[in-house]
Amino acid sequence: MLVVRCFFVVALAFSSSAAETFTPGRTYFGRSNYIEYLAGDLPFVLSAPHGGREKPAELPDREKGTFAFDTNTQELARAIRDEFIARSGHYPHIIISRVQRRKLDCNREIVEAAAGHKLAEQSWNEYHAFIDAAQKSVVAKYGKGFFIDLHGHGHKDARLELGLGHNADVYAKPDAELNKPDIYEQSTLRLIARTGKISYTALLRGPTSFGALMEKQGFPATPSPGKPVPGTPYFNGGYTARRHSAVENFAGLQIESNSKGVRDTEANRKKFATALFNTLKTYLDAHLGLKLSDNGAGRSSQ
Ligand SMILES: [Zn+2]
Repeated sequence: MLVVRCFFVVALAFSSSAAETFTPGRTYFGRSNYIEYLAGDLPFVLSAPHGGREKPAELPDREKGTFAFDTNTQELARAIRDEFIARSGHYPHIIISRVQRRKLDCNREIVEAAAGHKLAEQSWNEYHAFIDAAQKSVVAKYGKGFFIDLHGHGHKDARLELGLGHNADVYAKPDAELNKPDIYEQSTLRLIARTGKISYTALLRGPTSFGALMEKQGFPATPSPGKPVPGTPYFNGGYTARRHSAVENFAGLQIESNSKGVRDTEANRKKFATALFNTLKTYLDAHLGLKLSDNGAGRSSQ
């Protein structure tokens, strides 16, 4: 694999031509290799903030915040990349934090994320600049795209928690209320909901919802037809999912994955990656008119 050290990422964040700088299939790093960007050419961007294992001494331990390690989510992100390359012949955009969450939390705003430490702030800026650059390149190529922020939870209910920007109790509202703009405008899926081609409740838990498609592949999820209203505790979608799903012409969500059967073994990570590809292939075509075809990526009309 070609590896290119990238010392100019922060400058790139302020350049409108940033997206043109990255070559699909190449790997780019921020300062000291703390942040890794596997550049892509598919209309799909995935980030993994909490699977970092490195403990550089120059970054102090943060004292306030959440420090839970999302075990094997970095490895899961890499398995997803391998699967997408094998199935499509093209590359997803993947952004990974390689440092421990105790040092840096890329899924928080910068004050909590970096605790005022300059080098941690630089890595945080690089992480989000790489995602921004990936999104820009997707919109330039396809007109729109889809974003996933990947996590791992330790809740008792072993299912995927899909974070869309709503608290659990919102899903218990009557359909007529959920289908109103003041609800779906809060959603990470607002780009799709706004088209009016599908009701918001169907997008949340109907037969072509993300949760339904993952359940069909053997991965219980919520919201979904199987569990339309999440229980508690439930991760509702954090800083990154909200920020990068609000980018123009982007929709997205957060996946909080259970461990067993999803990310605990290499074989299970491969199974999950296969299911995610199958799900996104159907979902992106149905809701955004984007193809993840077996012989290359492109718009549905060619
Ligand atoms: Zn996490």
